[in-house]
Amino acid sequence: MQNPIYTLAKIAEILNADTKWVDGEVIIHYLVIDSRSVLVPEHSVFFALSSHRDGHEFIKDAYAKDIRNFVITDAKYVNQYPDCNFLLVDDALAALQQLAIYHRKQFDLKTIGITGSNGKTIVKEWLYQLLAADFSIVKSPKSYNSQIGVPLSVWQIEADDTLGIFEAGISAVNEMQHLAEIIRPEIGILTNIGEAHAEGFSSKKEKLTEKLKLFAASDLFIYSPEYVTEVSTKDLPGKQKFSWSSKQVADLQITTVEPIEGNCYLRAIYQNTEIECMLPFKDKASIENGMICWATLLALGYTPEQADLRLEKLSHVSMRLELKNGINQCSIIDDSYSADISSLAIALDFLNQQNQHPKKTVILSELFETGRDDLDLYTEIAELLAQKKVSRLIGIGTHISRYADLFKFETQFFDDTNAFVEAFPGLQFNHETILVKGARRFEFGRISKLLTQKIHDTVLEIDLNAMVGNLQFYRSKVKPGVKIMAMVKAFSYGSGSFEIANLLQFHKVDYLAVAYADEGIALRKAGITLPIMVMSPEESAFEAIIKHRLEPEIYSLEILNSFLNALSDYDFDYPIHVKIDSGMHRLGFDRPEIDSLSILLKDSARVKVQSIFSHLVASDAAEHDGFTQQQIDKFKIIADQLVAILGYKPLLHISNTSGISRWPEAQFDMVRLGIGLYGFDSALANNRGLQTVMVLKTTVTQVKTLEPGETVGYSRKGMMQNGGKIATVKIGYADGYTRYFGNGVGKMLVNGHLVPVIGSICMDMTMLDVSGIDVKPGDEAIVFNQEHTIMQLAKDINTIPYEILTNISQRVKRVYFYE
Ligand SMILES: *Cc1c(COP(=O)(O)O)cnc(C)c1O
Repeated sequence: MQNPIYTLAKIAEILNADTKWVDGEVIIHYLVIDSRSVLVPEHSVFFALSSHRDGHEFIKDAYAKDIRNFVITDAKYVNQYPDCNFLLVDDALAALQQLAIYHRKQFDLKTIGITGSNGKTIVKEWLYQLLAADFSIVKSPKSYNSQIGVPLSVWQIEADDTLGIFEAGISAVNEMQHLAEIIRPEIGILTNIGEAHAEGFSSKKEKLTEKLKLFAASDLFIYSPEYVTEVSTKDLPGKQKFSWSSKQVADLQITTVEPIEGNCYLRAIYQNTEIECMLPFKDKASIENGMICWATLLALGYTPEQADLRLEKLSHVSMRLELKNGINQCSIIDDSYSADISSLAIALDFLNQQNQHPKKTVILSELFETGRDDLDLYTEIAELLAQKKVSRLIGIGTHISRYADLFKFETQFFDDTNAFVEAFPGLQFNHETILVKGARRFEFGRISKLLTQKIHDTVLEIDLNAMVGNLQFYRSKVKPGVKIMAMVKAFSYGSGSFEIANLLQFHKVDYLAVAYADEGIALRKAGITLPIMVMSPEESAFEAIIKHRLEPEIYSLEILNSFLNALSDYDFDYPIHVKIDSGMHRLGFDRPEIDSLSILLKDSARVKVQSIFSHLVASDAAEHDGFTQQQIDKFKIIADQLVAILGYKPLLHISNTSGISRWPEAQFDMVRLGIGLYGFDSALANNRGLQTVMVLKTTVTQVKTLEPGETVGYSRKGMMQNGGKIATVKIGYADGYTRYFGNGVGKMLVNGHLVPVIGSICMDMTMLDVSGIDVKPGDEAIVFNQEHTIMQLAKDINTIPYEILTNISQRVKRVYFYE
């Protein structure tokens, strides 16, 4: 990527901005919207975009990272930074889009625009694989398809590009015309219109109509008639149309869909002849995305033979970084997605976000960037690695090796992956975070295998993006200025510890809370600097609490006195949190004790009350709203009384997840977000608006056929009256799959079928009744995911999602994904 070149003065002219600058001739290549991800500050301009927070708040961070060029809407910052260049506009997002529109107009390359509810990113990546031989392609990075992502994608267009493939995603009406204007797609592809994400629309028709606006000016529109039933044919966009379907008459009418081993064989009628192709996938979503690509190749004029040859070589795209445990206490970040500079920058940001070890190693293959000479490319990579504080580079490939001198830190080079694998036994990897990133042909999968601990075949997958999405969802519900305390007790509700805390720290929550001191100590040891409240501070742990600057919850006079005793003569203003019992009757002060508490607190300069809080017992339940209101009132009265005596104002907070959703008036100064982060909120019907964070998977060890009347498992509880087939999977009650799931109560998803547990759950294993289903050892069994939900599991055994989550034992390996 050579990146566009504009002077700041030119950008000001394009944006019609008021200017205040030191140097308008500075050259701009990069548009920065997140002060945490800065590539080359001297050639970057920062857009102060406002969403949940005012973008101007991050000017300080961006400045600290050496950015000196800013697009802002609030003139008051101009005088605070006299050495910076400022462009003043009315709307920073509109300015970003306007700049992209201008840039796009400078080129008349062919463009494909993709929208739909699912599959946009996969179709985009596959078209890239299919068409790369014939075009120099520029495409949206990852799933950059929003009002911000699209301008950033289009900004990458440069003179050599002959084809642009961009995706567009919307969540409300009147959003698409902006994206259409920026992308200006000559060819339009509608993937599918699911039921999902319909929030911003009053109906499916409204959603479809909005999406189709992307193609209003397109020459060619590629679609399936099944997804456009709400719109009459004459209203479909595109001067020409090309339809595909497996259910009805279409230009590409698919007649046969036949899975063969891991592949899928397709046959269709096209221009009155029968044609065929083979897709190297067998899952439903991939097959549909494959059909869309097939239709696109034909619509673009490729012959059926050419299309078949290309389609069978498609490869899976994983857009996710994977974080897992490595050998010798290392953490491994596996990124096999793509190997270009922008994805390297994203991966390096993740490496820094997960700052689990001071030592950071990057294993990098050589990269290919069209139109870029090696010296230029590796100079930029070397700067980037140094800027992101990488401690060691292991470079693989002859090109990167040639530029060894550019890297001014510990390095090692190998000509190819084989050479690395041979040398591996002699290489040192210890207590470090290792990013493994290589172009596909370098087969870095072999390297991550060497570095990764063997994964026990039961894995809890945690989608960090979904968790961030849930955080943003609640951010949008809290009033400006209200702080967020994220509850990471009990290993972050079972999902991990420092991995989650690192993510939350990176995304700037204000506080963390844990149950016990040792959880907080583990976070401090992993480099978490956020304030951490400890809800059950044991007296025996006071010394450690103080040493690690953890902030205890004080719930009784006794504990306050012993904590004061534990503080040394040198400590003063030590942060503590006062818990009020407003009705839960678990821990906390009640009214009669408030006077003595106030006196003690007022007299001691050793402690300072950071916050006063209480806990709602039924914030999700309408039938208890009267009681909740009483709790809030009581809390208010007691807190006011305390504040009056203290003479300063600590933060007040009472809301948990459902409180945020249902009691906007009870947000006070802070809210405590727990289970909502992990995707559940019983105040929301079906958790609407939240994303699934966790998937628990296990593996089939053996399959057996049983005769009628045989029994399965301990105490002969599982009776196979008519015989059948069972599969044994590697999860048992020691993993947290409780015995209550035994004897048909629990179910798992095996190869797309929901099958019941048969017999009792064993300590390490469970048997499933898979009669009539094609199953073999090594197949995956899904304990829960977005379809077979934790809600359902909780219902099956009469408990709540909290318990299902926190039951998953520590021996189940956690693997984290990040896009
Ligand atoms: C666990 C906990 C929360 C979070 O509750 P959720 O329902 O998970 O949001 C909040 N406050 C206290 C005191 C808690 O113990």
